[in-house]
Amino acid sequence: MESPRAILEVEGLKKYFAIKTGVFSRISGYVKAVDGINLRIFPGETYGLVGESGCGKSTAGMTILKMLQPTGGSVMFKGKDVLAMGKEELRNLRKEMQIIFQDPYSSLNPRMTIGEAIGEALEVHGIAKGKLRRERVESILKECGLDTYHYRRYPHEFSGGQRQRVGIARALVLEPNFIVADEPISALDVSIQSQIINLLENLQEKFGLTFLFISHDLSVVKHIANRVGVMYLGRIVEDAPKKEFYSSPLHPYSQALLSAVPSMNPEVQKKRIILRGDVPSPSNPPSGCPFHTRCHKAVAICPKKVPAFKKVGPDHYASCHLVEEVI
Ligand code: SF4
Repeated sequence: MESPRAILEVEGLKKYFAIKTGVFSRISGYVKAVDGINLRIFPGETYGLVGESGCGKSTAGMTILKMLQPTGGSVMFKGKDVLAMGKEELRNLRKEMQIIFQDPYSSLNPRMTIGEAIGEALEVHGIAKGKLRRERVESILKECGLDTYHYRRYPHEFSGGQRQRVGIARALVLEPNFIVADEPISALDVSIQSQIINLLENLQEKFGLTFLFISHDLSVVKHIANRVGVMYLGRIVEDAPKKEFYSSPLHPYSQALLSAVPSMNPEVQKKRIILRGDVPSPSNPPSGCPFHTRCHKAVAICPKKVPAFKKVGPDHYASCHLVEEVI
């Protein structure tokens, strides 16, 4: 039987930001925010991209959507090369690939009603205007747990949870297949977070959506994702199916992150692995394995040689000198 085709295939994706200094703004270095990541996402799946803040997750999401111009690598969406697309093709692609931001308020115009903000894209893409546009917006508002009377309201009249529902409605109104959800619940009150997660799951099932779910919260990712990728200093250091990742993480960084997640089972006593220091600057990453300055398992070779990203199980990958490659 033929294996299903990935909806999104990312290979060697890089995004470097130039550091300019002096009166002549000479380039004195680069911040390697995303430094050669690979990932594949299958239709209807949720891929959880995790890591500490500043590890490059959000930059990766925006570069995949070509909201940021990549420095190198490739992004294939439904077999088409996103990075080679011209303006018109990209405009059409926006109907299929959308983003939900952490803080929808900052991306909403305070002088536009919610109906106008959500409906704008329908008009820009020539999909619907007038009465039809209004009907489409009202219908998506209802799908996202809002009321039709919200159409005439302004962003400041909404609570944080409602604003995120508006952000989701705006992403969904063009009926996309693929959504980058960038820390969609981390700005919300804990009591609201599960409502938004349930909404995303229901919408995924109803509309067959595929998610790249970016989060620093491993408990949330455990709940929502099918597959997990762990980022550190612009690179994916481990990539595995969810079950395998949570039961037997192989990279020391994943092990440290997971050791900090509280267990719901009081009988499970976990030994907390404390990460030393802060994430080093991506403009001057450590030599060899970039994690060696904080790693609790580092050995002599670690600062000298970059570990390869190895296949360590049937569908499990990690980059660490201590893990065995499987053929
Ligand atoms: Fe730690 Fe060395 Fe493995 Fe890097 S390669 S994660 S420093 S043990």
